[in-house]
Amino acid sequence: MHHPRRIAYFCMEVGYQASMPTYTGGLGILAGDTLRSAADLHLPVVAVTLLHRKGYFRQVLDAWGGQSEEPERWAVSDFLKETSARATVTIEGRTVHLRAWQFDVKGHGGFHVPVYFLDSALDENAEADRTLTDHLYGGDTRYRLCQEIILGVGGVRILRALGWRTLERYHMNEGHAALLAAELLDERLRAENRHDPSPNDLEAVRKQCIFTTHTPVPAGHDEFPPEQAATIIEPRLCHVLGRIGCLDGSLNMTHLALKLSSYVNAVSRRHGEVSRKMFAGQHVDSITNGVHARTWVSPRIAELFDRYLPLWREETFTLRQAMRIPNHELWGAHVHAKILLLDYVNRTTGLVLDPQVFTIGFARRMAAYKRADLFLDDVARLKQIHGVTGGIQIIYAGKAHPRDTGAKEILRHVFRAREALLPDVKLAFLTNYDMHVASRLVSGVDLWLNTPEPPMEASGTSGMKAAMNGVPSLSVLDGWWVEGCIENVTGWAIGRDGDGRDAVDRGATAEMIYDKLEHVILPMYYHDRDRFIDIMRHAIAVNGSYFSTQRMVHQYATRAYFR
Ligand SMILES: *Cc1c(COP(=O)(O)O)cnc(C)c1O
Repeated sequence: MHHPRRIAYFCMEVGYQASMPTYTGGLGILAGDTLRSAADLHLPVVAVTLLHRKGYFRQVLDAWGGQSEEPERWAVSDFLKETSARATVTIEGRTVHLRAWQFDVKGHGGFHVPVYFLDSALDENAEADRTLTDHLYGGDTRYRLCQEIILGVGGVRILRALGWRTLERYHMNEGHAALLAAELLDERLRAENRHDPSPNDLEAVRKQCIFTTHTPVPAGHDEFPPEQAATIIEPRLCHVLGRIGCLDGSLNMTHLALKLSSYVNAVSRRHGEVSRKMFAGQHVDSITNGVHARTWVSPRIAELFDRYLPLWREETFTLRQAMRIPNHELWGAHVHAKILLLDYVNRTTGLVLDPQVFTIGFARRMAAYKRADLFLDDVARLKQIHGVTGGIQIIYAGKAHPRDTGAKEILRHVFRAREALLPDVKLAFLTNYDMHVASRLVSGVDLWLNTPEPPMEASGTSGMKAAMNGVPSLSVLDGWWVEGCIENVTGWAIGRDGDGRDAVDRGATAEMIYDKLEHVILPMYYHDRDRFIDIMRHAIAVNGSYFSTQRMVHQYATRAYFR
């Protein structure tokens, strides 16, 4: 017997643990953290995603930072259990059979949230259709649209086949899942043998649908030419899409999701402002992202929390009491995490990083707007800072999308800077950024650096993971940092709010980073350690307590799921 469930959560990627490579980055990890918090809170949620049998990719780097990619195969049946449920979708006129693999996300109190991973690798399917659920964000726009049909349409159908009958809300986490709304509409029509949706049908579907938009980057919003949509999507569904005006011009998944949702949100306050401008006339709320505390707090810091804030595992907001933790204890736990990280770095890179030296971390998907190489623009300046302050060392990680040549060039730039910084400043590059590498990094560095080009960072979450571990950020004021930064209290801003959106160029941004490091942060770290530790503690108390998926899921529950 199933517990009755009310909410279906759809996301193209779910990142739960490093050994299941079913995620690319922030979106998938957010989904995983969201489901963990939903399970902690006993929320009646089921989730749907794709299997991604070949993972995203394993990153291989040559000596110059040239990236190549290998498939990241994983033993699906070691992690997931096959269900007997089957569903079909029609793609290019062919029937594609789908199966669902189940993974149970277990909450703190033992409550489970089932996640269904859709898989088309079945003998009944045509050869080419068997690989449709293999590659996350692989292939061309045809491949992508096929995957979105499987996720949205196949996802709704598999939930029916699995027997979930009490679902009342469908959450599209990003536009990839938008076809689910069209399927809900067509489901109503099929039930009554009708072809054309009425305003009542639209209203009924809108009532059920929730849409979260995740990026102000235009390329992040999927669009398909109408001819392509018409050849790939089944005629019934195309007819419905046409009737609601979603095939005039291109099939834009964001527009489809906006049209068929009664609650729409962006993922930070700033992103809400930006999205309301992008989608004029649309009501867009904002719920700022978070991270799952138990997942991202390193073991020694967790022990410290257990002693001083014993309820933190159940109630993340208890981190507010971090001010109780004595300086030397917080420092001791941090140094422990730092040594774990540096051991890993030294073992994997052959460098010798020194735990006494101030360590700066930068790890991101190498998307152009994240500007990973901005910090390395002036190597001479970095050497000078190193010389006059007590020293710096730097750790980087990040994958470029296989077809993003700009991002691959950024990787090579980071590698050129690494050579140019020697022998003074050591820069370590960790290959294959994943959840493992991320958890070591966010807890073991002394400062988390973030330099996106405003207003492109919808939220960002790695700085939140760092904050929970007492690691302050130095970041451009964009995404979550607009809400999280209290200057000299929780960390530091690069420039003022509004800078970089138009007036401030890249060189000026880099200069502001160097200045703040040289004159504020490094002197504090080396000569006023207690003050630095106080900032670490505020990162936990002010930001760790708030930027959690527990708070976030609570907001989704009250504003969207149970309204
Ligand atoms: C947290 C995380 C991300 C997302 O970080 P952002 O700051 O949002 O860019 C990406 N990749 C991995 C492996 C992560 O752990």
